[in-house]
Amino acid sequence: MHFSSAGSGRFDYLIVGGGFAGCVLAERLASQLGRRVLIVDRRDHIGGNAYDGLNEAGVMVHRYGPHIFHTNSSAVFEYLSQFTEWRPYEHRVLAEVDGQRLPMPINLTTLNRLFGLTLDSAGAAEFLAARAATSARIESARDVVVSQVGEELYRKFFEGYTRKQWGRDASELDRSVTSRVPTRTDADDRYFQDKFQFMPLAGYTRMFERMIDHPDITFMPSTDYADVRHTIAHDHLVYSGPVDEYFDFCYGRLPYRSLRFEHATLEQERFQEVAVVNYPSPEVPFTRITEYKQLTGQQHPCTSITREFPTAHGDPYYPIPAPENAALYRRYESLAEKTPGVTFTGRLGTYRYYNMDQVVAQSLKLFSRLAEQASVAA
Ligand code: FAD
Ligand code: UDP
Repeated sequence: MHFSSAGSGRFDYLIVGGGFAGCVLAERLASQLGRRVLIVDRRDHIGGNAYDGLNEAGVMVHRYGPHIFHTNSSAVFEYLSQFTEWRPYEHRVLAEVDGQRLPMPINLTTLNRLFGLTLDSAGAAEFLAARAATSARIESARDVVVSQVGEELYRKFFEGYTRKQWGRDASELDRSVTSRVPTRTDADDRYFQDKFQFMPLAGYTRMFERMIDHPDITFMPSTDYADVRHTIAHDHLVYSGPVDEYFDFCYGRLPYRSLRFEHATLEQERFQEVAVVNYPSPEVPFTRITEYKQLTGQQHPCTSITREFPTAHGDPYYPIPAPENAALYRRYESLAEKTPGVTFTGRLGTYRYYNMDQVVAQSLKLFSRLAEQASVAA
């Protein structure tokens, strides 16, 4: 791994973006096929949005908001385990609703505490069934929730949060958005039920550093692809930045949602009950507060937190899952397919609301494809 200029000579692969998409692919190409790879990133660090590090107080924080690793894929988990030890961590979230902090996803405890009831699981299922809307078609993110828990719980837990997060109503978003959040009638208060739920013990950045620690991988931070595209000789380009930007927005801009992060360090050991508290109320301008020590297990006399304020402007963090955006993306996708020597990947390159493990899986699959092509060509 080198952190200087690209030096002389030709690279087999130029990879744009040093996040999960770029680093996993670089690692595979170098370690399995002996390819010379250059990764460029316009940011001054490796890791993309999963970047973490110690802040000025010495608390480990995630610069771009909380990243919690979970997957059902043993292939993904085993792959990453080559580059990190793990800390078992099961994520729990509370949502502040009607002056109470209640388990989110909605579960048996949420219902009993919100409505002052003493339901058991069967009672909770009946309670929800009596409220659930019975519309035949479940098309939008709103329909998904209303069909499970009804209008009132939708309004309290989802309506305001979704409007803030996406800048539009849940009825204008794909069903996949709220399908990420289940409804439970038992008292399981974990946010995820995946088979593997861990945090990288020494952090994400350390994991990325180990991944690209290979003599055939060069990393150039603070380097925009636009500035080097004509000067760095390479055979293949892999692009994990925004696909519309690559094509100079020729069909118009793909909408992305951004966030403004307000980071703070407090001179107290603990700030809140769990790592993440959600604020669905439209009266509160942010969506959630994260307390990092509860994710990392770090012991420190201070604690660091982040409030997330969704915005339309800024770094492109979230592709917005909606039919008209998918249609626009398809136009870019077909242009991408007709562009020889360039492969698009990652959350921004393929305009997909992917979690980290899905991006790792996507890169491993892409590597298999490239390896197959290489063996056919040989
Ligand atoms: P990125 O991490 O976005 O990396 C792309 C890189 O490309 C960036 O570093 C960018 O600077 C660089 N780049 C773009 N264009 C150019 C250019 N022209 N020249 C040079 N460099 C360029 N996933 C989970 O599994 N669990 C979570 O808890 C979780 N929480 C999240 C919280 C937030 C606030 C956000 C925004 C995302 C979260 N995710 C989470 C999703 C996760 O961040 C992504 O799945 C993953 O980071 C995507 O990796 P990537 O490599 O595709 O993209
Ligand atoms: N959501 C909500 N209220 C919550 C949590 C989630 O309305 O308390 C909705 C919201 O639209 C959000 C989506 O469900 O964008 C998916 O939530 P998730 O926590 O999976 O989003 P992430 O932060 O991981 O992208």
